[in-house]
Amino acid sequence: MSDSGDLQVTHVALLPSAGMGHLTPFLRLAALLTAHNVHVTFITPSPTVSLAESLSLSHLFTTFPQITQKHLHLLPLDQPSANSEDPFYYHFELIRRSSHLLPPLLSSLCPPLSAIITDMSLTSTVNPLTDSLGLPNYIFFTSSAKMLTFYVSFHTMLGPNHEIEDHTKVSGLEQIPKAWIPPPLLRGGNNLLKTFFLENGKKMTESSGILVNTYESIERETLAALNEGKVLRKLPSVIAIGPLAPCIFEESQQLAWLDDQPTGSVLYVSFGSRTAMSRDQIRELGDGLVRSGCRFLWVVKDKKVDVEDDKKLIEVLGQGLLERVKKNGFAVKNWLNQQEILSHPAIGGFLSHCGWNSLTEALWNGVRILAWPQHGDQKINADLVERIGLGTWDKSWGWGEGEMLVKAQDIAERVREIMGNKLLRLQTDHIREEARMAVGDGGSSTKRLYALIKIWKRVQ
Ligand code: UDP
Ligand code: UDP
Repeated sequence: MSDSGDLQVTHVALLPSAGMGHLTPFLRLAALLTAHNVHVTFITPSPTVSLAESLSLSHLFTTFPQITQKHLHLLPLDQPSANSEDPFYYHFELIRRSSHLLPPLLSSLCPPLSAIITDMSLTSTVNPLTDSLGLPNYIFFTSSAKMLTFYVSFHTMLGPNHEIEDHTKVSGLEQIPKAWIPPPLLRGGNNLLKTFFLENGKKMTESSGILVNTYESIERETLAALNEGKVLRKLPSVIAIGPLAPCIFEESQQLAWLDDQPTGSVLYVSFGSRTAMSRDQIRELGDGLVRSGCRFLWVVKDKKVDVEDDKKLIEVLGQGLLERVKKNGFAVKNWLNQQEILSHPAIGGFLSHCGWNSLTEALWNGVRILAWPQHGDQKINADLVERIGLGTWDKSWGWGEGEMLVKAQDIAERVREIMGNKLLRLQTDHIREEARMAVGDGGSSTKRLYALIKIWKRVQ
């Protein structure tokens, strides 16, 4: 299976950015490349924002001692208050400000690198540096190919005041409705997300290639439009290498409650690693789950960053709700290994914010999704969930982040619908098979990865 047999070592550096949504696919890619005899140097911007990131990194290095770890030591802040906008986006900015430390680090690596793979949020920072080193820089886009079309087109939509003048400018494909565009990008003035989209999206054309954690059977038309220059001329190859398989090193936990539930009966409820709902919405959601009468496993998240999440479950839910939850559900307030949960036979559905990693894990395990996008790329991803038959999305629920309060009764109805939907069950079995085929022997993503490794070998 692997491209071994060649005595020369191909050496590639990986540079992720902040947050589990960005780190997780890099960890999975590092494991995959290692399995194909590519020597990986994993550069970790330090310190990380969340505890989840630092724990995942330590699991990676313990499991794969052959991966070289290098730190990019982030310089201290001169304006800590700017952190308040979003600690994760602010970290992208911190990495940018420390990026002058990167060229000496990259040049010192031995054997010399064939390429570096950089997170999408660092494109404009890293491209000029790797250009000056003559080092190929591949960008890893950690969301869908559809989101990539928007990302690379964003700069063409802005007028002189940096406001979106024409959102219909994603060419070559069906238009993305304005309501699906991340709200900070529609606001006047500047914010970190807008600057990142503008600067990085523009610079994607100057990279050596764009890797995406997706695969052909779910995004064929979009991948074709990108690669045929219909979205943006002069875009480098867009290479679908997903869905990246979960790794054995991801921490394992036992959950006795789940083991005792009947097959396919439990709805898993989680909104990813960095989405905290308002207290009112949390309680309405809990009430809705109880009223649905369905079994559920609910990860309650009260703060964006895990290290600040210090309230007890009872404080967040209140005694009354917590007691009612216990009738047909199980609530936790700590990190669960989501991939492992989704692979458990008792799980039959997933109420998800549609973060791209959550979505790829759901299709990997053939678990149907009830989509409730909260921010960022999640509405664009939720649309894909519907299109490919992985689940349903009630668009009247709007964005999270306090746009509206979705009522318990509505939540209960949608939950009952998704858990009772037999047709979806058949479709998701098929999706699971196709996902695994894409990265299996002779699969479309496997072929692309081999071709890429061959190119790197020639660069040596
Ligand atoms: N995750 C997890 N346990 C949790 C919350 C999240 O294992 O309690 C993992 C999840 O499986 C996924 C990643 O963290 O791999 C979150 O990425 P995603 O793109 O789904 O959403 P984000 O957290 O970036 O919004
Ligand atoms: N994002 C991006 N480029 C950036 C910063 C963010 O494409 O430079 C995207 C990100 O992948 C997602 C949205 O902006 O589509 C929200 O970013 P975030 O880091 O919150 O990712 P998420 O947590 O939603 O996975």
